[in-house]
Amino acid sequence: MDAESFLGVDAGNPAQRTYRHSRPKFHRMLLEQLAETAVKVEYDMEVMDYFEDASRGRAGVILKDGSKYEADLVVAADGLRGNSWSLVAGKPVPAKSSGKAIFRVAYPVELALADPMVAERFKLQEDGRSVLELWTGPDIQSIFWRNQHEMHWAVTHDDDGSAAESWGHKATPEEVLKYTAAVAGWPEVATRVIKATPADQLVNWRLMWRDPQPTWTSPSGRVVQLGDAAHTFLPTSGNGGTQAMEDAISLAACIAKAGCKENIPDATRVHNLLRFERVSCLQAFGVVNRAKWSAAKAANPSANKKTQGPMHLGKWILVHDPEEYACQRYDEALSHLKHDTPFQNTNTPPGLKYKPWTIDTLIAAAENGEETVLDGDWD
Ligand SMILES: Cc1cc2nc3c(=O)[nH]c(=O)nc-3n(C[C@H](O)[C@H](O)[C@H](O)COP(=O)(O)OP(=O)(O)OC[C@H]3O[C@@H](n4cnc5c(N)ncnc54)[C@H](O)[C@@H]3O)c2cc1C
Repeated sequence: MDAESFLGVDAGNPAQRTYRHSRPKFHRMLLEQLAETAVKVEYDMEVMDYFEDASRGRAGVILKDGSKYEADLVVAADGLRGNSWSLVAGKPVPAKSSGKAIFRVAYPVELALADPMVAERFKLQEDGRSVLELWTGPDIQSIFWRNQHEMHWAVTHDDDGSAAESWGHKATPEEVLKYTAAVAGWPEVATRVIKATPADQLVNWRLMWRDPQPTWTSPSGRVVQLGDAAHTFLPTSGNGGTQAMEDAISLAACIAKAGCKENIPDATRVHNLLRFERVSCLQAFGVVNRAKWSAAKAANPSANKKTQGPMHLGKWILVHDPEEYACQRYDEALSHLKHDTPFQNTNTPPGLKYKPWTIDTLIAAAENGEETVLDGDWD
């Protein structure tokens, strides 16, 4: 199956096309772009705490060595274990285990293609496009794909204590093969791709989770959480990195709309309003996909495409421009926040009426056929 069929989109339509990126190359591109700006970046500085001073319109961070930095706005983009919850929520909001972990790697494709069975199965398409295979079953989800330069694969497994949240926490192919050996019908070609994985490349990552938290801004709006610091994703959403970038684009657009530093709290609060429901729907999408795949059945078989097929990324997910959305809806959203005028987000599934949820209530409601945040047109 090619990537476009897997995602359920029309590859001939540029607006619907999805692009898979090599993470290292993408990071390099961002670093090159950053180098073109005058922004100074300092590395190896650990933020221990965040603060703000509403009377001066300032916010800041306290580093591990005790030093303080201040600014008009602080973006807390320090990932899942971020330290901004005490300021934003008034208390720590710890992430918990999602119950799953993931083996994940990318390595030079030549190593995999040295095996004739792998080379035959993972030929590039005639037009050079990459090839992706997805195998799911009770308690396992796996993806194998290759592009011109790399072989990638990922296999989920139960969080049995062997995994950690670190790119430095490695596993061996033999550990993975112990899991897959117990999977009925596990493809021989997948075993061969795993065996070809170079030692010390394979990550065993513990997947952590935090139920949706609607407020991402500090009380006076001078600190705003962004990306995984604001919202965690399961891999079955396929959206963690994408939504972190959408956040960044939306926030920048809102700050530009705000016009001056006095209005930064308006910008962060509008950004929060424009983004939360969309992100929460995508988090729910991952929860339901995981439940569906784990049980090897749809959570609600009579429902629409959101619960059918491997992973249907509807148009509302793919065809969204967060900059345009922020620019177009900023004034209306600000009026809602300041004067309680009506406001309805349109970057969620059409027809959706947002209802707060948690991972436990969502799964239970979906299994009982009750209405959930997943109702609406997800096509
Ligand atoms: C194994 C794995 C595979 C994934 N695959 C995909 C995928 O294919 N597609 C996708 O869209 N998403 C994927 N994701 C999710 C994606 O990686 C995250 O959603 C995304 O990286 C979030 O970006 P972020 O910038 O918010 O946080 P992060 O990428 O976590 O960045 C946070 C940064 O803050 C730094 N930091 C942390 N604490 C502090 C501190 N106290 N002080 C200073 N700095 C600090 C960290 O060092 C890090 O550089 C995957 C995640 C994992 C774990």
